[in-house]
Amino acid sequence: MASLEPGWPAPVNIKVLFSDRRGGCSHAPYASLNLGSHVGDDAALVTRNRASIDVPGEPYWLEQTHTDICVNADMDATDRLGDASITRERGKVLAIMVADCLPVMFTSRGGDIVGIAHAGWRGLANGVLSSTVMALGSRSMLAWMGPAIGPCHYTVGENVRACFSSGTGFAKGPENANSAESKFSMDLYAIANEQLQSLGVEVYGGGLCTYCDSSRFFSYRRDGVTGRMGGFIWME
Ligand SMILES: [Zn+2]
Repeated sequence: MASLEPGWPAPVNIKVLFSDRRGGCSHAPYASLNLGSHVGDDAALVTRNRASIDVPGEPYWLEQTHTDICVNADMDATDRLGDASITRERGKVLAIMVADCLPVMFTSRGGDIVGIAHAGWRGLANGVLSSTVMALGSRSMLAWMGPAIGPCHYTVGENVRACFSSGTGFAKGPENANSAESKFSMDLYAIANEQLQSLGVEVYGGGLCTYCDSSRFFSYRRDGVTGRMGGFIWME
């Protein structure tokens, strides 16, 4: 299994793992480390892939639907419906799945609480980062942004841009300056960065593009039918 090292000054007891597509047993178009059980892959292979992830316990998976709902994983909700979670328990592994949407990991500077969020454009528009920071409390927080689709490959319409009051993160391409419908390149990293900074969070990471690197990353926009990567965070 291959994973990214987050470059952030988190306390030493904070562990982050982001699994990319390499090192699993699924076949194309899910090759190979697909963690998504809802994308049409062989369930037995997904189970094997999930079991190969090097985390200290069963991940706290969520039913992700692009909301702003942040689940407290210490009060085990039966439906686990949400797009973010937090925990104060050591050894509890928070998890999200992504393939273009932005994964964001959180920790307090003291390393006594962690959180994770799944933030695509809908999540960012709905305020999932804000609700996660609120759930984490008023402590001084650090956030790390994992791999997401970059502005180089993410074009959206006016309907999406209109969901954001700040103009940050949207640029109109010269190639469509004269087209009837306005198209914009969207920068999830820039928008998340602005939102997090306005919430007083110190932000690290960002800048990778899942669409650009097909050898390492699944990308829903690039491939349609594809696998899901996993973001994980826990406290030792
Ligand atoms: Zn790209």
